Amino acid sequence: MKIRFLGGAEMVGKLGMVLENKGASLLFEYGLKLRPKEPPEPPIEAPHVDHAFLTHSHVDHSGMIPWLCARYDCRVTSTPMTIAVAQILLQDTIKVADSEGYPRPFEPEDIRKAMTSFAPMDFGDVIDVGGLEVELHSAGHVPGATMFELRGDSTTLFTGDMHTYSTRLVYGAHPVKCDNLIIEGTYAGRLHPDRQKEENRFIQKVKEVVERGGKAIIPCFAVGRTQEAMLILKDLKYDMWVDGMGKTVNRIYLEHPDYLRSDKQLKQARNKFAEVRTPAVRERAKQGQVIITTGGMLDGGPVLSYLDHIKDDPRSAVLMTGYQVEGSNGRKLADGGYIEVPDYGPRGRRAPEEIGPTPMLRRIKVKCEIQQFDLSAHADHNELLAFIRGCDPEKIVIMHSENREALAKDLQDDFKVFMPKTGETVEI
Ligand SMILES: [Zn+2]
Ligand SMILES: [Zn+2]
Repeated sequence: MKIRFLGGAEMVGKLGMVLENKGASLLFEYGLKLRPKEPPEPPIEAPHVDHAFLTHSHVDHSGMIPWLCARYDCRVTSTPMTIAVAQILLQDTIKVADSEGYPRPFEPEDIRKAMTSFAPMDFGDVIDVGGLEVELHSAGHVPGATMFELRGDSTTLFTGDMHTYSTRLVYGAHPVKCDNLIIEGTYAGRLHPDRQKEENRFIQKVKEVVERGGKAIIPCFAVGRTQEAMLILKDLKYDMWVDGMGKTVNRIYLEHPDYLRSDKQLKQARNKFAEVRTPAVRERAKQGQVIITTGGMLDGGPVLSYLDHIKDDPRSAVLMTGYQVEGSNGRKLADGGYIEVPDYGPRGRRAPEEIGPTPMLRRIKVKCEIQQFDLSAHADHNELLAFIRGCDPEKIVIMHSENREALAKDLQDDFKVFMPKTGETVEI
């Protein structure tokens, strides 16, 4: 069995892996790398494949699936939940490329083609493809996220993004016995704080901010994090709002209740947060006390309008709940207490398209409180090690990681560890 990464082996972003088995070629993920103020970056061009598999909707995994389906007549196996969420993330990818003046990575009709190319399957279902029996297992990362178990002469598990801890939104993944394990290593070399303590710290901070008369602005990714933050805060008796694409994801999640740990809890959470549906309602939400909103890294989305409203108020706070990549506004805010927004000239007279993809940036100082919390949806170093030992493989391929050497160091005495570079073909 041969594997070759088209991207995302030694980095988080634009993942794609081709697996060849007895003349059949299978693609796992085909994502995009999205970075602030840079055009979306695709992996190496995919060859013709017989079948594709998508673990979950996040754009670093799914972002080039429309391109693939537009070029090749290829079915894509995924869960109905992933397919529904991917559709809105892919549409948003075009919207963001347009608004930032970058070339579109694919066209709306390519998304339509992708939607008809998906072959939906659920956890526990098995299909025969390329001489292999493929079974789907929950990856515990976000609802609907899948690990693919491939059974042939040997058994191989492809994890995609995974978490073994049961969050409020989704139960954690269980190990699957295999000979070859192809596993993500986003958190290789890093440990999460105790989750329960971290959630309590988050709740206490929200209370402290509101009790002192401030507003808590909570920037969140639409898929997974918005819902997790709502579930954590749902018992607070404050004036709470949810804004951005997370609202649409809430609806899709509740339409697929089997993938949730508790649809009842998510319904309760949704009833506690008023939805911002129009600009007029957004003005009302600004008078609220707790606002969960996209974008998670403060590089766009409604969060900027809320931030502008509270930035000089020392009683208010921005409470970040996710990893902030280098160069993002979230990172600038955490490290330097400022964000940067495009400057469209006096009174915004010039339209973004006149300025092009690299407009002048205006620095905005943020004087309210800034805090970060770790509500990660990925297994950390020790959780990865425990999962790997539970799978008990012979060979391990570490991917989707900027620090996979740290994980390899703890594994190489007991397992055969591979860390292929993007483009390299490896026989496993
Ligand atoms: Zn993910
Ligand atoms: Zn990922």
